[in-house]
Amino acid sequence: MTTDATTTALRRCIGSAKFGIEAHEAPADEFPAQPSQRDGLGRMCKPHWNQYTSALRKAALARKAAEGGAAVVAAPIAPEPVEAPVPIRTRAKRGGKAAEPAAASQGDAG
Ligand SMILES: [Zn+2]
Repeated sequence: MTTDATTTALRRCIGSAKFGIEAHEAPADEFPAQPSQRDGLGRMCKPHWNQYTSALRKAALARKAAEGGAAVVAAPIAPEPVEAPVPIRTRAKRGGKAAEPAAASQGDAG
């Protein structure tokens, strides 16, 4: 096992306590590209990200099944942010972009 000079930067994989994924550090090379992230890389390494997303899917399916899945077809109720493991609890849209404050009008409009 020899490491090339290209893969020196380690990146933190945040893992997911909810799904039993332990946080650790891995080469940045191991992280999937995620344009919505600030640095363009995901917060979990590939294997863990796959594990996380599949776990999310299963959880979502299980939840739907538990609710009956009859009357809640057109109501995308999401009590928890299941899109991405972001610590902030805001109503983020699917893009994952942070909501920007409305630009204040500068000066009076004539
Ligand atoms: Zn990982």
